[in-house]
Amino acid sequence: MIETFSLVMALIYGLFGLLIGSFLNVCVYRLPRGESIARGRSHCPSCGHVLSPLDLVPVLSYLALGRRCRYCQTPISPRYAVVESLTALLYATAGFSGTWTGLVAGWPSSWLLLAPLVYVIVLSVFWTWHLMRTPLLQALVKQALLVAFIQLLLPFFPGLAW
Ligand SMILES: [Zn+2]
Repeated sequence: MIETFSLVMALIYGLFGLLIGSFLNVCVYRLPRGESIARGRSHCPSCGHVLSPLDLVPVLSYLALGRRCRYCQTPISPRYAVVESLTALLYATAGFSGTWTGLVAGWPSSWLLLAPLVYVIVLSVFWTWHLMRTPLLQALVKQALLVAFIQLLLPFFPGLAW
């Protein structure tokens, strides 16, 4: 059952992607501020309250808390959930297509090797976005994201390779 196996791989990769996305958020928030990404517990940027593990479940905590900090009710930026969802989606896609093409063609897909590259790109895009808030740069970043997304889908349509 190729389909079932591919879906299971997509799920496993997707969950892993959520964790990676969560880590990326820590990087995106802390690196520009010169803070360590290894030390220090996550805290609310508004009230400074240290967050419990229950507040840190990717995407779910954000939705369950009504998109606000549990302690001070300050709205939480949607960027965190967006980065987590996007990374999970990229990983799920890599897991699904990697398994599928690998099984069909009989060789390990280069997609699995591409996954780390993809999240480095996501990290740099959001970091750039954070540092440079000019409309022109944001338009360029959007176009780059669109091109990357189209390239990501290309393996599903072998006849369309450029
Ligand atoms: Zn707070």
